[in-house]
Amino acid sequence: MVATESIRLRSYLFNYPVNRPRRLRSSVLIRNMVAETMLRPDDFVMPIFVREDINEPEPIKSLPGQYRWPLNDKLINFVDQLVSSGIRSIILFGIPEHKDEWGSSAYDEHGIIQRTIRFLKDSFEDRLVVMADVCLCEYTDHGHCGIVKKLPDGRYIVDNDSTIELYAKTAVTYAESGVDVVAPSGMMDGQVKAIREALDRAGFSDVVIMAYSAKYASSFYGPFRELQPVRLSLVIGVVTKWTRGMRMRPLRRSPWTLMRALT
Ligand SMILES: [Zn+2]
Repeated sequence: MVATESIRLRSYLFNYPVNRPRRLRSSVLIRNMVAETMLRPDDFVMPIFVREDINEPEPIKSLPGQYRWPLNDKLINFVDQLVSSGIRSIILFGIPEHKDEWGSSAYDEHGIIQRTIRFLKDSFEDRLVVMADVCLCEYTDHGHCGIVKKLPDGRYIVDNDSTIELYAKTAVTYAESGVDVVAPSGMMDGQVKAIREALDRAGFSDVVIMAYSAKYASSFYGPFRELQPVRLSLVIGVVTKWTRGMRMRPLRRSPWTLMRALT
């Protein structure tokens, strides 16, 4: 596989002047004609952060132009503008009033996201695809994406298997509220299987799962940390989110990947 790729790369690099890639970049029309990817408003999903204890939109300093939204007509007006401009999909993130060790507001049938889904579906029906993030970090008082457990040796971990049960429970309450797509973001092993089985068991085989299958251990998430007014617990500071994001260093280095990265 790697050998074939290096032959392709060599023929690409050394066929000059027969091969002049600049020809296909020479004008806007030609670039558009050969573009492999075209982006339309339908391709975009707008993240929307809904906060339980506010009545007015609240600016997010680290993401200029973005707001935390209250669950009222102001949110409806904003989503209406999106739909009119051709953006027909949104993904919801919740900021609840009540947080606890187990993130119980995430799977409360009267939780902020469950109510928001019902509110938006009543207003927009099939004109809008409603997705909802499935994770516990917005809902736990320690800010981690799952249940924190103390090991016999005194270390703390985010416990994978008890956490995915709660993701599944959360996804079912979203489905009961009318969500179209659930989006697990906690990077727990087995999360998609657990959610799929729970949804199917509850009769929601049509609900789509969109997992953030590749989420990297990266500081690019910095601005998002301001979204939820949470401090990653100092008490359990030894637990790190870095163990769940994928490594930035790829397993196999393809010359094509490197070339794309460098051009
Ligand atoms: Zn999370």
